[in-house]
Amino acid sequence: MNNTDLLAPAHEATEGTVSPEAFRQRILERLTYQVGGSPERASERDWFLATALATRDLVMDRWRTSNADTLARGDKRVCYLSMEFLIGRLLADTLGNLRITETAREALSGLGVDLDAIAAQEMDAALGNGGLGRLAACFMESLASLGIPAFGYGIRYEHGLFRQVIPADGTQHELPEDWLSLGNPWEFERANLRYKVGFGGHVTVDGGRLTWHPGETVRAIPYDTPVTGWRGKRVNTLRLWSARASDPLHLAAFNHGDHLGAQAERIRAESISRVLYPGDETPAGQELRLRQEYFFASASLQDVLRRHMAEFDRLDNLADKVAVQLNDTHPAIGVSELMRLLVDVHHMEWDLAWDITRAVTSYTNHTLMPEALETWPVSLVERLLPRNMQIIYMINARHLDAVRKAQGEDARLLASVSIIDEDHGRRVRMGHLAFIGSHRINGVSALHTQLMKDTVFADLNRVCPDRITNKTNGITFRRWLLRANPGLTKLLVDTLGEEVLDNPEKLAGLAPHAEEMEFRRRFAAQRRVAKEKLTRLIRDRIGLAVDPEALFDVQIKRIHEYKRQLLNILQAVALYNAMRARPMNNWVPRVKIFGGKAAASYWQAKLIIRLAHDVARVVNNDPTLNGMLRIAFLPNYNVSLAEAIIPAADLSEQISTAGLEASGTGNMKLALNGALTIGTLDGANVEIREHVGAENIFIFGLTAEQVARKKAAGYDAREAVAASPALSQVLDAIRSGVFSPEEPDRYAGLVDGLLNDDRFLVTADFDSYDTAQREVAARWRDPEAWWRSAVLNTAHVAWFSSDRTIREYAEDIWDTPPR
Ligand SMILES: *Cc1c(COP(=O)(O)O)cnc(C)c1O
Repeated sequence: MNNTDLLAPAHEATEGTVSPEAFRQRILERLTYQVGGSPERASERDWFLATALATRDLVMDRWRTSNADTLARGDKRVCYLSMEFLIGRLLADTLGNLRITETAREALSGLGVDLDAIAAQEMDAALGNGGLGRLAACFMESLASLGIPAFGYGIRYEHGLFRQVIPADGTQHELPEDWLSLGNPWEFERANLRYKVGFGGHVTVDGGRLTWHPGETVRAIPYDTPVTGWRGKRVNTLRLWSARASDPLHLAAFNHGDHLGAQAERIRAESISRVLYPGDETPAGQELRLRQEYFFASASLQDVLRRHMAEFDRLDNLADKVAVQLNDTHPAIGVSELMRLLVDVHHMEWDLAWDITRAVTSYTNHTLMPEALETWPVSLVERLLPRNMQIIYMINARHLDAVRKAQGEDARLLASVSIIDEDHGRRVRMGHLAFIGSHRINGVSALHTQLMKDTVFADLNRVCPDRITNKTNGITFRRWLLRANPGLTKLLVDTLGEEVLDNPEKLAGLAPHAEEMEFRRRFAAQRRVAKEKLTRLIRDRIGLAVDPEALFDVQIKRIHEYKRQLLNILQAVALYNAMRARPMNNWVPRVKIFGGKAAASYWQAKLIIRLAHDVARVVNNDPTLNGMLRIAFLPNYNVSLAEAIIPAADLSEQISTAGLEASGTGNMKLALNGALTIGTLDGANVEIREHVGAENIFIFGLTAEQVARKKAAGYDAREAVAASPALSQVLDAIRSGVFSPEEPDRYAGLVDGLLNDDRFLVTADFDSYDTAQREVAARWRDPEAWWRSAVLNTAHVAWFSSDRTIREYAEDIWDTPPR
């Protein structure tokens, strides 16, 4: 049987195009001939592999026809370069987008196998840290769903983000994630498409031509994963590079008994794709990080040029056919690398190469925090990438000349817009390189883009005007609503019709239903089902009993001081104090749910995790509370855990210091699923408020402008704490060891740090946050008001679909019309 017998042409809806019997047959074939199992003895893992392989088979023809169509039409392609792709599991997503989930369920149940059980066997592809990597994954899905030809380019890390383990003492331990250990059924190794990537060595000049002679070359081997769009409309490629040594074994040395030394080159080369974000405290760690960035940028651009030359046999039309998007500065070295490839390898004249580079490239900025803006020591770039360093100098010289011509000899301005930072020991500013090499630079929310123009890129924006544009982030509703929350999805389809699956704007039709008691009851009922499911998960994972009747108050995201999990914990302690002081009060029962990883070397964030556990232990074991307050920290937050928590969330905590969260996407996922947000006017919260209405969101705290002013005036936390009896009591308790009796001083440093230098204005926002939390409780006591707001959140967040975001990129940045 071949695939075309099973599937309708790619442009048609795929539903029902493969029968359960035919699909069952395919699964059995894969189980027998590829997994090497038998139906009698197959484990759940075997069934998962067989089912994933059978599903992949169904994608193959569409994948081929998608590429063939692009080729035939000569369409422009988007190349999305990202150091991170936080994909999560793929089976449910692929089946769902092919609309054959029920077919697969039936096919498997005929074999006595449960689809959900085997789907849970899939390891999360955790090739990213958090929001930035998840954005790349949502974008890949939307690109395919909109029919835009695209490649995602990144690194195939053998070990993605670490697995977080938290023993009873509340300390985070990092274990290597081993997502490939049992095989990855989705990927194809394309060894024939490998490239050489050089490092080190020297540059020679002969006859005016510069030639780089690398001291070391590494091979980049691509692994391709199909990305299936909604209704199988289009299948794009995620191409991840794996590093191999050019010379993996010195046989002579090996035979002389130097078994390790003989393999040193292999180990050195393969380190590049070994782990996501190796620690960069040491010079060796920093060097490895730069090697990773250059490795994947160079391999990806070589691939782009090879494909383009094969198709058109010329490069002057590159910008008509390729758009390269740099997801943050990690691939920014791609600017000088593209110049190197065009000028040195393809012998293009500099000015033309520069025009093409800028027309091809655009850059997304994700953070304004100075410590997160990448810079590399000039000495390191010179040593590792000598030819790229020369090209960066050349780009900078021409750029500064142009600035001089337009603005005169303004030393401050020139220093500020230079790619080289001369003030901190000569460093290459990767954000500047990306900015100067791009025709569009985008921020990821309206506020963030404005702050970009006002702060980090103020001078660059003046000398290169009209390049900055806003593209507020989005999320794919297929994963974050349809798959994550089938209960709510069914209610939406019953109420609004099937069309809501294809067109999120239809969600607005929910607004009138928010006024109907019966509909609110049904909306609340499906939340209740999701909460019961999460209640079981909490019990199974951490052995804590919680009441699904309680308000589920959720903060799930990377643990970072600016995201202010600490503010949430302090408020929980205040609530705990109040509950103990007035036990007869009519308290709203709450479950505070946390999830998130701290970077391995970020000790302050790890201390916050520990504090959450210490407070949880005291609160959860206090019999006088009658379970009115519970704190659950769920370990190893990842995409799959997010999918389990989000449908069960009543309250969404988005409480970063205003001006520091570029956008957030967790806020969008939770609002889409009908959680009410408590948040600051930061990132996309500002736009969420505009869409859902100020009465359906709890906004508190300082604005970005007030934060800036307070800091400029010299903020005194001690004064703020003295003025707040509740906060004083909380800090005294934590400082004196109430929550860490076995080590009373554990949090003394943390509290003193807050009092001496509260960089994230936790104390400044505390009272306002506490008040907002009381408003939350008051709304919860009025179920009609609460559920009305909840329905209106789901009704009014269609705009945060990543389809909308991608349409904007396609129109304003890439010039790649959706098909
Ligand atoms: C959405 C998501 C994030 C980003 O969350 P923010 O609240 O926007 O920081 C991080 N990690 C995972 C697993 C996610 O799904």
